[in-house]
Amino acid sequence: MPATILDGTKIASEIRAEVAAEVKSLTSAGMRPGLAVVLVGHNPASEIYVRGKVKSSEEVCLYSERHTPAETASTDELLALVEDLNRRDEIDGILVQLPLPPQVDSKRVLMAVDPAKDVDGFHPMNVGFLSTQRPGLVPCTPGGVMEILRRSKIPVAGQDAVVVGRSDIVGKPMAMLLLNANATVTVCHSKTHDLPGVCRRADILVAAIGRAGMITRDFVKPGAIVIDVGMNKVTDRAEFERFFKGNEKRELSFAKNGSTLVGDVHPEVAEVAGAITPVPGGVGPLTIAMLMANTVRAAKLRRATPVPVG
Ligand code: NAP
Repeated sequence: MPATILDGTKIASEIRAEVAAEVKSLTSAGMRPGLAVVLVGHNPASEIYVRGKVKSSEEVCLYSERHTPAETASTDELLALVEDLNRRDEIDGILVQLPLPPQVDSKRVLMAVDPAKDVDGFHPMNVGFLSTQRPGLVPCTPGGVMEILRRSKIPVAGQDAVVVGRSDIVGKPMAMLLLNANATVTVCHSKTHDLPGVCRRADILVAAIGRAGMITRDFVKPGAIVIDVGMNKVTDRAEFERFFKGNEKRELSFAKNGSTLVGDVHPEVAEVAGAITPVPGGVGPLTIAMLMANTVRAAKLRRATPVPVG
């Protein structure tokens, strides 16, 4: 039986509607949440992401502003901007779009963001809050995966979860969230022995690798829940055919755009999985929705109940 498709676009729009309602009530209480996005230089991919984030903020009626320092900006200039945003009470969330230009000390800039305004959840203080199960801000993509599982009524407690990928942005926080939800978690990476065998033990398999279609059907236990975080652009015809041969809809869009998106999971996995997130339309839409949700959460934690420290 083909897998149930976990519709991230629909779940993201539910979350955005809930966020919009919260923004409305906070605004009428005089606490309109505000998000500042910092985009340095002219990285085309970053410009697209930032446009999406600002548009989404407007749709849910968050206050938002965009700061666009020049490509030549120094670490000190960015630190001064972040400090200014930290001080301003109407700004609840600060997002510094990565990557920063090579002359900038990215770690220093990210560390300078007030943890209470760190809507990306990257600051070590928020990492600590997550691992000690205290209220804080959780990275958007893994947070979005948990929303997909929760809203699709997929049980997590007691399940064997395998996360492939251990990045600070996706893999590690994903593993921590699943552990906090009482899954038995295994984290895999490029040095893992017998990756297919480890993955086949998973009731819930999360792929966050950055390699097009790497997870094939022999990695998947029949009936498993498969979450595909990967977003890889395929432009090569032979590679396209490896994934989508005979798929008319994809053929049309590949012919039109010269590229298509594929996840880290091969599309054939839909024939064995119990449920699967598509690419596009799975985890991707959740990331921006969770950024909106995090900004509201940051506003509530910071303005109403300060984030407890210690
Ligand atoms: P990353 O920082 O490059 O991390 C990739 C991880 O995969 C690393 O831990 C690496 O292991 C592991 N890996 C690489 N090759 C492997 C192999 N052959 N076998 C086993 N593990 C392997 O990537 P990321 O930032 O976590 O992103 C992962 C994917 O998610 C990318 O496709 C990215 O585009 C996508 N993404 C999507 C969203 C979204 O909104 N949907 C958001 C963020 C990221 P080592 O640690 O050993 O090197």
